[in-house]
Amino acid sequence: MENSKEMRKWLDGMDLPHPLVIAGPCSAETEEQVLKIAHDLKDTDVNYYRAGIWKPRTRPGNFEGVGAIGLKWLQKVKEETGLKTATEVANRAHVDLALEHDVDLLWIGARSTVSPFIVQEIADALEGTDKIVLVKNPVNPDLSLWLGAVERLYTADIKKLGVIHRGFSTYEKTKYRNIPEWQMAIELQSKFPDLPIINDPSHITGKRDMIFDVSQTALDLNFDGLMIETHHDPDNAWSDAAQQVTPKTLVQIMRDLRIRKETDQEAEYNSKLSNLRAQIDVIDNQLIDTMGKRMKISDDIGELKKKKNVAVLQSNRWNAILGNMILEGEQRGLSEEFVLRMFKAIHQESINHQEKIINK
Ligand code: PEP
Ligand code: MN
Repeated sequence: MENSKEMRKWLDGMDLPHPLVIAGPCSAETEEQVLKIAHDLKDTDVNYYRAGIWKPRTRPGNFEGVGAIGLKWLQKVKEETGLKTATEVANRAHVDLALEHDVDLLWIGARSTVSPFIVQEIADALEGTDKIVLVKNPVNPDLSLWLGAVERLYTADIKKLGVIHRGFSTYEKTKYRNIPEWQMAIELQSKFPDLPIINDPSHITGKRDMIFDVSQTALDLNFDGLMIETHHDPDNAWSDAAQQVTPKTLVQIMRDLRIRKETDQEAEYNSKLSNLRAQIDVIDNQLIDTMGKRMKISDDIGELKKKKNVAVLQSNRWNAILGNMILEGEQRGLSEEFVLRMFKAIHQESINHQEKIINK
């Protein structure tokens, strides 16, 4: 698949003064709930009203969605509020039902994107239609799998396309529900600058009080839009209660976000600068994270040396590391002086960690 301006025509054609906004509940629960939230979102920046009809749940026994009846409620949303509608499809039957009920935008969920069979089935079912289709990233951080799904749709002649970045599963405990791995979204944008990319801060954070910050980072990284789960009574939502915001909070978030337009030279400069700075922030956070991990391993080495009563410093090992890193650094345009200073500082911190352990 080649980068093609065609993929983003549907979005550019909307000529929005703000990023695209997809909002609505994680799940359609009752007709009243679906209509209440839609009416609350009617006169806001929201462009598409989302509601999950079939819910992929990690474990059985949780609410798995209301099923096809919910599509009738989405039709009512469109009639009563004029909002366009969006839902997740995970097989051919879902696609057929969604088309029958005139859903405007379909998305492929993170658990489906991992399966080329499922994605192909959905692409085949959609062939010849004119729907907008967005592909959520797979649960695992695999850029080719993500792009492969987009490619299957593109090949089935679906040209109104986009991706949704909803973060990635990790075994490690982090402050996120799904870690963003922003560098993947950045790489995807540099390979396919015309493929619209929407951020889903709800599933990245899992917590409503982190949604603003993640949304701002996404906008600073030139994302085209946001998908934010919104519920009139989030605490009592049947799924994803902790991450949903009220319509009022959504409006406030949209008001507070710094949305940069590229209308004049000055604005273009600022927008480029904040984009680059956001990329630097992502890398700095990774550096600190990596240093933390490195020191934890140092602690383990300290424990090992303590048991065997071995000295903290082994100079040949240290010289070998330094020599290697100077060479590696050189290949990446880093001066010997910088690499030396950096590794001396890292080494010193490592020694401090081990000293503490050996003498405890
Ligand atoms: C959702 O959007 O409600 C959903 C199930 O998302 P994901 O596929 O990202 O887990
Ligand atoms: Mn959800």
